[in-house]
Amino acid sequence: MDKSNYYGRRVLVNWVDQQQQADPAIKVLPTIAVHAQTIRCYRCNTETPKRLAALPNGEYYCPHCINLGRVSTLDKFYHVLEPNQFTVKKPVLSWHGQLSPLQERAAKQVASRMKDHQRQLLWAVTGAGKTEMMFKGLAACLARRERIAIASPRVDVFWNFTRASRQPLLIRIWRFYMPIRSCRTTMPS
Ligand SMILES: [Zn+2]
Repeated sequence: MDKSNYYGRRVLVNWVDQQQQADPAIKVLPTIAVHAQTIRCYRCNTETPKRLAALPNGEYYCPHCINLGRVSTLDKFYHVLEPNQFTVKKPVLSWHGQLSPLQERAAKQVASRMKDHQRQLLWAVTGAGKTEMMFKGLAACLARRERIAIASPRVDVFWNFTRASRQPLLIRIWRFYMPIRSCRTTMPS
């Protein structure tokens, strides 16, 4: 498989497909850490007592994120460091809406923390303009040739951003049964 499919991601690969791996540029990582009494899943970072996670032959799986497809000690994550080889079409943002002074202040803070790759929570009531307050930070990320993942229970949040951006964004609706394809913007659903 084309190694670009693994850029900046940890892709779950089952033991059958692991036999087909050829490209040495692909890093093969464990999916689960096995400790004395518990296992820790590297996908959802949840710890589980071994007795609740046991499979035959001394293997283990994570019961907490099974709705995304089973991850077990038989699987591996394939990963290639993100090379950020994106082209930037300027201006990055085609959205010309007006933010209020307080929204503008929040948007600047979001952009600043995204630049420093810091964790943050933007919380406001429905209709407060949270999506629009993200535009400045997201546009700066795109201009820096970074890859973005948007996790949202509502698809329209993502569409709002793709409409506001002039970039040729590709979407990967993340379902475990879909074929793996590398895209600049990933939205788990
Ligand atoms: Zn898990």
